[in-house]
Amino acid sequence: MDEFDQTPDVHFFLCRECRTHIALTQELLFTVLEYDLGIFRNTVNMDVEGDPRRHRIFDMRTAADASCTQCSRLLGCKLVVVPDETMFVQVGRFILDLRRLLLWDGSQILYAHTHSPVED
Ligand SMILES: [Zn+2]
Repeated sequence: MDEFDQTPDVHFFLCRECRTHIALTQELLFTVLEYDLGIFRNTVNMDVEGDPRRHRIFDMRTAADASCTQCSRLLGCKLVVVPDETMFVQVGRFILDLRRLLLWDGSQILYAHTHSPVED
């Protein structure tokens, strides 16, 4: 399991369910605010569906389910085939549901989609 340093200088996303570390904030390239989706260059601690028969196709793009390694919760998908790559939408990138993630902002843990503090 990969772990980032939970220090003021290192900001990253965690699985909302089990708080496994998922991605550094600099890996987040773009946020689709309307759907609370984030496009990430890279992630850690994610299981990606390897069986092509279980991949999903939408708008000619093919995606593999991507889940938290620790708790198996589905967090989003990884793009496998993208015939019309754009600056953000490219093969190998992850599209994650920000509502299923938390954010360590250097001083506290926030909900990734609202940036309101998590009470605990
Ligand atoms: Zn998890």
